Amino acid sequence: MTKKILLSFPQSATGKPMAMELIKTYNLDFNILKASIDDNVKGTLLLEIMGEETDINAGIVFLRQNQIGVMEIQSVVEVNKEDCVDCGACTAACMVNALEMDENWELIHHQDKCLECMHCVKACPTRAIHALI
Ligand code: SF4
Ligand code: SF4
Repeated sequence: MTKKILLSFPQSATGKPMAMELIKTYNLDFNILKASIDDNVKGTLLLEIMGEETDINAGIVFLRQNQIGVMEIQSVVEVNKEDCVDCGACTAACMVNALEMDENWELIHHQDKCLECMHCVKACPTRAIHALI
């Protein structure tokens, strides 16, 4: 199976060979989808992680035991419905139809389809869409 996980690294966790542990000990493969470092204090990493479900869960426990925050997500972008005016502009920017208008002209976000391109963030006139990383 495949999961998307968002990792938060405190400074104390940097420099440890976490990726090697995930591959060797837990038989996991992963793709790094996005990465950022804030003021050399903490880092954030979005991973697509592949493996057996039990191995993925064990790998997540391992990361948490090493002070790494782990959040399972489906999409790196979130729509704040309070700021959304259902204008539909973001749907034109999304090439994989992860954003669609329903029959009542209300925005639907299919998080599982998202490819993290961020085009919708720029397309939204009310800044209702924000990226987690
Ligand atoms: S980030 Fe890209 S793929 Fe994901 S919802 Fe926005 S436009 Fe669509
Ligand atoms: S562009 Fe922004 S305001 Fe318009 S439907 Fe999308 S999220 Fe809502």
